[in-house]
Formats: sequence, C-alpha cells, structure tokens
Amino acid sequence: METVWVLGDQLNRDISSLRDRSPADTRVLMIESRAKIGSHRYHRQRLHLVLTAMRRFAGGLRTAGFAVDYVFADCFRQGLEQHRRRYHPDEVIVMEPMSYTMLRRLRQLDVRLVRSNQFLCHYEDFAVWAAGRKRLVLEDFYREQRRQLGYLMDGDEPAGGSWNFDADNREPPPRDGRSWPRPPRSRLDDLDDEVISGLPEEAVGAVPDGTWATSRAAALARLRHFIGKVLPTFGPYEDAMLAGEWSMAHSMLSPYLNLGLLHPREVCDAAEAAYRSGRVPIQSAEGFVRQVIGWREYVWGVYWLWMPEYAAANGLNAGRDLPPLFRDGETDMRCVAETLTAVHEHGYAHHIQRLMVLGNLALLAGVVPQQMVDWMWASFVDGAEWVMLPNVLGMSLHADGGRMATKPYAAGGNYINRMSDYCRDCRFDPKRRTGTDACPFTTLYWGFLDRNQSVLSGNHRMARQLQAARKLADMAEVRARATEVLAQLDGGEL
Ligand SMILES: Cc1cc2nc3c(=O)[nH]c(=O)nc-3n(C[C@H](O)[C@H](O)[C@H](O)COP(=O)(O)OP(=O)(O)OC[C@H]3O[C@@H](n4cnc5c(N)ncnc54)[C@H](O)[C@@H]3O)c2cc1C
Ligand code: SF4
Repeated sequence: METVWVLGDQLNRDISSLRDRSPADTRVLMIESRAKIGSHRYHRQRLHLVLTAMRRFAGGLRTAGFAVDYVFADCFRQGLEQHRRRYHPDEVIVMEPMSYTMLRRLRQLDVRLVRSNQFLCHYEDFAVWAAGRKRLVLEDFYREQRRQLGYLMDGDEPAGGSWNFDADNREPPPRDGRSWPRPPRSRLDDLDDEVISGLPEEAVGAVPDGTWATSRAAALARLRHFIGKVLPTFGPYEDAMLAGEWSMAHSMLSPYLNLGLLHPREVCDAAEAAYRSGRVPIQSAEGFVRQVIGWREYVWGVYWLWMPEYAAANGLNAGRDLPPLFRDGETDMRCVAETLTAVHEHGYAHHIQRLMVLGNLALLAGVVPQQMVDWMWASFVDGAEWVMLPNVLGMSLHADGGRMATKPYAAGGNYINRMSDYCRDCRFDPKRRTGTDACPFTTLYWGFLDRNQSVLSGNHRMARQLQAARKLADMAEVRARATEVLAQLDGGEL
C-alpha cells in the first residue's frame, strides 16, 4: 500500500496527491511536528486554526473510509520514520509543499513529490512567463492570467471595458457612520477545546473565539458570506482604515486559501457569478479577482523564482531591532495601536494596515527585514514563508532593492490621515515633522529620505520626494527629532 502524506497547508480532498486515490490503495499520513509548532512564538488563533483544521480534515478522511495515521512527533523526519516502521509503505507520496524550506526538507526524506495544483499558475509556468522580461510587472501578469483563465472576460475584452478599476478602489473611508458586515463566528466544539487546552504557553494573542473557520464546510460558509454581504462594497474602500473596524470590507479568506480549505478557482468562480448575476459591481468583482489571480499568484511565482537568496535580502542595510511595541502593543501612535489591537484580538490586519502602518513604520525606522518577517509570520493567522517574504521584504520594506515594488511604500502621517480616522484622536499631529507633538511617521518619513538619498538616487520614481527632502529648510531639526523618535521607539516609550 502507498502512503499519501498530507501537509498542514494541503487540507483539501482535491489536492493532486489525493484526488484520484481511494481507501483501497492509500493510507494517509499527517504529522503534527512539535519543532514546527515551536519554531515561532505563534499567535494562539493561528495555531488553533492550523491544528484544528488538520485534525478535522483527518477526521473527514476517516469518515470517507481512509486509514489515517495521525502522528504527533518532535519533527517531520521522526514522524515519517515512525510511520515507515509501523506500516512499511511501498512509497510515500507528497504534493509539492508551499515553501522552499519544506521542499528542501522533503528532498532529504526519500518521498515522491507530485506537482502542486493549489495555485492557478504553477511556479514553473510563472518562470516561463518571467523568462527574458526586464521587469516582472504585476499588471502584465494579471492580464495574462485573465486571458488564460477567462475571468471577467467578454470574449477577448475585459468585462466592463477596462482591465483595471484600481483608481476607483482607493477611496478614503466613508464618514457616514455606516455599519460594516460583522464577520461570522463558528461555535467552538470539543475538538476546538482539546486543541486550545494543548496550545504552548509561550503562544501570544487572544484565545480563539470562533472567528476563523477550521473546516472546509465552515470556510465555504465564510465564502458565501463574503460574496453575499461584503463583496459589493469590497472595491472602493480596499485601502481605507477606520478605528474599531478591523475587517471592514475585506474578505478574510486568506487563511483558508493558504491552508487549502478553499481553492483560488472556487473563490474567483463565486465572484464572477455574483458579477454576472448583477449582484456585484464590476469594480468590486475586478478588485477581488485581481487580488487572487493577480497579486496572490504573482507573489507565489516570484517567491519560487528568487529563493533561496531572497530570504536574506536587506538592500537598505536596515539594522534596527524590532521595537518592543510590536510585542507589547503599547504605543501612543493611534494608527499603530489600532492595528496591533486587531492583530492581538484576531491575528489579522488588513492589507493597508500591514503595508502602510506596520510595514511603513518598520521601513521608516530601518528595522531588520528578517525580524519583521518573523514577527508577521508568527502574528498573522494567514502567515507562511512564501507569502511573507515577497510581501514583507519586497513590497513593504524595499529590502530587495526594488525587484518587486518599483519604489518604497514610504509615507508620512498625511497619507494615514487621508485614508483613516485614526489621527483625529491621536496625541500627535500628522502635519508636523518637528516638535514633541510631531507625528512620528511624518518625522521618520523625512528622516528616511534623508538617510537613503544615495541608495535611492537611481530610482526616478523617487526623484521628486528626494529633491523635496534636499530642499527642506528645517532638515537639521528633523534629523534631531528623528533621532529622539527612534530612541523612544527602541526604548518602548513611543
Ligand atoms: C507586509 C505584508 C504582509 C503580508 N502578510 C501576508 C500573509 O502572511 N499571508 C497572506 O496571505 N497575505 C499576506 N499579505 C497580503 C495581504 O495583505 C493579505 O493577503 C490580506 O490582507 C488578507 O486579508 P483578506 O483575506 O481579508 O484579503 P482581501 O483584502 O479580502 O484580499 C483578497 C485575497 O487576495 C489575496 N491577496 C491580496 N493581496 C495579496 C498579496 N499582496 N499577497 C498575497 N495574497 C494577496 C489574499 O489571498 C486575500 O485573501 C501581506 C501583505 C503585506 C503588505
Ligand atoms: S498622527 Fe501619526 S501616529 Fe497619530 S494616528 Fe496619525 S499617522 Fe498615526
């Protein structure tokens, strides 16, 4: 008999290693590795989500008649050896893993790898698309994906007459006091309780409250909720932030896509169907499909193209240790406090909070990129190496020298003020760059441009900002204030 080893982020009956298998010819192996669980100080809700989803998936396979060997081991190698000793499988088959690190590990374990079907564009196909291109422009890849996959196409033309409604999707938050859809919650059952009671003491974050679905059926229900109640407003306010509103009009589907509970094809099919039936405007449907078949697949493709050197990237020579506020959540900066509260409560922050609040702060302060990767990886329910490295190193911290993002996503307090209501109740003033009430983002923004004049001088998209920094009459005061701000950040006093 052969064994199919199902990894913790391959939780779907249709993965390529399992879909044509039957209980008559296959035993399933699943391993909970204590080394993996202990590799970061993970958020409780992340550990709960992954471990509960694994155990539920195993239970579902048993119900379908499969013999499942669910092993608790110190590490994957030990779990596999234990399985081999017990069952002597003819062969152990594994679908290609999501991460480079795991691929390297599997290659040392005498298993047969089969091609992954968890993405719509396999990374080898992405490499073919990328070959010979000077720049890997997301928009080019996205249009190719639309053509190949046929999403939101009317014949050869994009539905709604445009490939891209991005300009409509950058609205500041509405100030009409509207209520946003509440994320559904699942009732916790005995399995949840069992997993929660076994979580490591060092785990961080609030205890699980049912926000995250841990089975395919519940993930499908979250998808239906998103398409019916959230997607119609998804587009315009994608970049907006509001105090006390942690999910706004976001899908919150990333953990399910990343664990295999949902497949990108089915979420895009659902968005397309909602658009075709007139329930969702094209801006929203296109905005969502762009995130999934565009950004998500692009990130996956560049990760495999640029690994393993990519993991060590630090193009701006950033050397600051992760400031304590990321761990203790204590800060007077309202935007950061709001975002860290969402991370503590739910293991989640939406894209603009990740990029323009947390990532922006780390970029401006010059935090070591790999420390930021580790913190985000541990803190978010949807964290994984393949998605973290390009998003944190490339998009957010410009550590890859601009391979992914043509210019750093650096912004002062004015951007956050325009896109949120955070500044209203903050003790700092987003317009000021000097003085004790100056917004730390604004001060550090000018300090960042000043510090990186020579590294960024070849980037024509930064020319205007760099010139503005050179012309700043009060740069000496800005430098002095930036030094104070950074010292306060390091000392946990900001
Ligand atoms: C600094 C930083 C760190 C990030 N870390 C992660 C992470 O650990 N895990 C993760 O899945 N995403 C990560 N992202 C990408 C993105 O922010 C999240 O996918 C998104 O916020 C998840 O929330 P959502 O499901 O509500 O997304 P929505 O805003 O509803 O978007 C829909 C879907 O599009 C996909 N998507 C959108 N943008 C991206 C992107 N840049 N990369 C990959 N997928 C994308 C996700 O699958 C997401 O579920 C990160 C982005 C940044 C800037
Ligand atoms: S003033 Fe600055 S620190 Fe305060 S909320 Fe606005 S951007 Fe954040």
